[in-house]
Amino acid sequence: MPQTVLVINSGSSSLKYQLIDPDSGHSLAQGLVERIGEDIGHIHHRYSVHDVDINEPLPDHATAMKLVLDLFEEVGPPLAEANIVAVGHRIVQGGRYFNGPALVDDRVERLIDELSSLAPLHNPSALVGIKVAQDLLPEIPQVAVFDTAFFQDLPAESALYALDRDVAERYSIRRYGAHGTSHRYVSHRVSEILGGRDLKQIVLHLGNGASASAIIGDRAVDTSMGMTPLEGLVMGTRTGDIDPAVVLYLQRVAGMSVDEVDELLNRRSGMKGLTGDNDMRQVRDIARSGDHSARKRAREALDVYVNRIVKYIGAYTAEMGGLDVITFTAGIGENDIDLRREVCARLEPLGILIDEEANNQRPRHAVTISRKGSVARVMVVPTNEELAIATQAMTVV
Ligand code: AMP
Repeated sequence: MPQTVLVINSGSSSLKYQLIDPDSGHSLAQGLVERIGEDIGHIHHRYSVHDVDINEPLPDHATAMKLVLDLFEEVGPPLAEANIVAVGHRIVQGGRYFNGPALVDDRVERLIDELSSLAPLHNPSALVGIKVAQDLLPEIPQVAVFDTAFFQDLPAESALYALDRDVAERYSIRRYGAHGTSHRYVSHRVSEILGGRDLKQIVLHLGNGASASAIIGDRAVDTSMGMTPLEGLVMGTRTGDIDPAVVLYLQRVAGMSVDEVDELLNRRSGMKGLTGDNDMRQVRDIARSGDHSARKRAREALDVYVNRIVKYIGAYTAEMGGLDVITFTAGIGENDIDLRREVCARLEPLGILIDEEANNQRPRHAVTISRKGSVARVMVVPTNEELAIATQAMTVV
């Protein structure tokens, strides 16, 4: 049995896991636990040809994790024989403390806890995941892999907000970025494939959450998510960039509370706010076959979505003083052929030329979709955050 890493991504009411061989990238088993804390929870576990679903109350993460470990014994693969050398945990916010993966000890746990104020929805549940894994798999080292780590060394010009320094420092307000594990993984894959040094890359991670990053060589120089994952591109349910005065206006004029505005901007905006649906496939369906006004709104929403991406590509190209490659990744980036065509059509006047036929696929591996003569290459590279977490975890055990 090769060495494996158990990767855990623990959300507030969910838990994703995958057992991975970090050398080959092979996934031996994976699963998803949803609706933890609700009346009836759900576990889906997949191993080889076995697909198992369980529906029963999952009052907390510990119960869920125990059931998952039971599934490994009953359905496979048995963990005692899986040669697990680390449990890798995805942690959203590493603040200014972590620029790479960290072996979990008391200090690391304390810092993750301290950073909960910056990621109130994510860091606390990740800590629960760590504690449960420590209890259930006490012999195996736990590693924290931070979503912000890749952006820890952003230059001051893109990390700082033009905010009163005393206030910013007192409250640790700066741009931390997010999705860093994906941006790092995808940009490394591109560098490996193209073999260039100091490539100027833009990575577009377009999933339900969405972010863009500018990378020179192996260093991120800018990214679209800010102190929290609310800033930047238009997302499934999040606004992305918005005039902060809107927040004040909603409180003063609409009489909304802080929590109501928070909920509005994070959960009821983005594509969902503009069309009623946050799933890009549904939005495309509405744009094709909804009634007249729904169609118009969906088309407008897609235009807002594309325009924001184009704006970031222009800005990052200027910031980096050039551009070698744009890479699309994540659910929408890998699968939405129309979206890639629409973004690239806007870049044609800049000399970026797409190959329609090459673009017309949902690739399982890295492909180039630009044509000869394009001033920058355009690629689609499937992201694999679990593999990236497993690989990073291996570097500290
Ligand atoms: P992720 O967060 O990376 O899992 O991405 C989720 C997003 O990918 C959702 O908005 C899906 O609608 C979108 N997506 C998945 N497949 C397709 C597709 N074939 N066309 C358009 N969007 C897709």
